[in-house]
Amino acid sequence: MSGRRTVAVVGGGIIGLAIASELVSRGAEVTVFDPDPGGSDGAWHVAAGMLAPGGESAHEYPHLTRLLEASNALWPEFAASLGDVGYDDAGTLGVALTADDVADSMREWRHQKLDPLTGSQLRDREPALSPRVRAGVFAPTETQVDPRKVVAALRAGLAGRIAAKRVDVLSDVDADVTVVAAGCGTAALTGLPIRPVKGQVLRLRGEPGLLRHVIHGSADGRPVYLVPRADGEVVVGATQEERTDRAITVGGVHDLLRAALDLVPGLAEHEITEITVGHRPGTPDNAPILGHVDDIRRTVVAAGHHRNGVLLAPITARLVADLVLTGSAPALLDDFTPGRFGCA
Ligand SMILES: Cc1cc2nc3c(=O)[nH]c(=O)nc-3n(C[C@H](O)[C@H](O)[C@H](O)COP(=O)(O)OP(=O)(O)OC[C@H]3O[C@@H](n4cnc5c(N)ncnc54)[C@H](O)[C@@H]3O)c2cc1C
Repeated sequence: MSGRRTVAVVGGGIIGLAIASELVSRGAEVTVFDPDPGGSDGAWHVAAGMLAPGGESAHEYPHLTRLLEASNALWPEFAASLGDVGYDDAGTLGVALTADDVADSMREWRHQKLDPLTGSQLRDREPALSPRVRAGVFAPTETQVDPRKVVAALRAGLAGRIAAKRVDVLSDVDADVTVVAAGCGTAALTGLPIRPVKGQVLRLRGEPGLLRHVIHGSADGRPVYLVPRADGEVVVGATQEERTDRAITVGGVHDLLRAALDLVPGLAEHEITEITVGHRPGTPDNAPILGHVDDIRRTVVAAGHHRNGVLLAPITARLVADLVLTGSAPALLDDFTPGRFGCA
């Protein structure tokens, strides 16, 4: 399409900003609307930033896995374009503490075609792991990034194009095309089945270098991940609760800390610097909703990224920009249309 399209992006979280940035780079005239740009309301502010395409239920959703893998392949270039956003490709150790944890994890590891490692092989790679860790795998393509740095970099690149304004009704927005990327707020704007899935996350701080890899595992049936940053921060996540509140609970924090210490006892000396709560934008099939929601093709939705919105930001930006600028959907979007839930 020739000429400059005006595009309104509703939502200045990681998805809205990534789309806006891609559209600007392709010549569109873009305004992003968010009531609190850069504030702590979005799920991105809580997210650990694991880029894990082989995540826990990958085998149940092959079409989602294809999208996750395609986005993962874009991350090195996307991160480089943003500067220092904490992108770290040391990889992930999947670990299991007890025999039951090993049995539970084995199906996933087999599906990912990863060779099991013994406890001592794991400790050769990551000496801080507890001697009680029995088995695990090394997933070299599961990397990490700092979502707060990503959002800061995207916002800096969009300076002057972000309006501190909440959108309550889409028909109030004046643009050739409106992209609704408001995370959990998308449900109220579009009627799409996006629900908040609560997650509690801790941030710890200690001497840098205790951990080199992302640790993703289970300890006595308690799932946990530990995402170490270069500056000594370790993000410990996350609960998964079908709740809309923002309460930090004793049980949630206890379970995360207990599992974290079971796997890496040396974390006991770390300081707890933050406990946060966020809501993943979940959908009935755990996959994002990407496509037109009106017959006249002026409103596009890009939401419902659930547990993988950080990972999916680059591919979402690219595919949604294609859709906005050409009016037709790339084939990769076929499985993610709003139509699968009976919408336009
Ligand atoms: C505990 C937790 C851990 C996570 N860990 C990971 C991880 O390790 N890896 C990963 O890939 N993903 C992770 N995620 C998921 C990821 O954070 C989300 O999928 C992602 O943030 C979704 O991006 P978004 O921009 O759609 O929504 P959000 O990040 O929630 O941003 C939505 C934005 O829209 C704005 N908004 C809402 N309503 C309106 C309105 N009416 N008008 C204007 N603006 C509006 C909000 O203010 C907000 O800024 C995690 C999420 C949680 C909660």
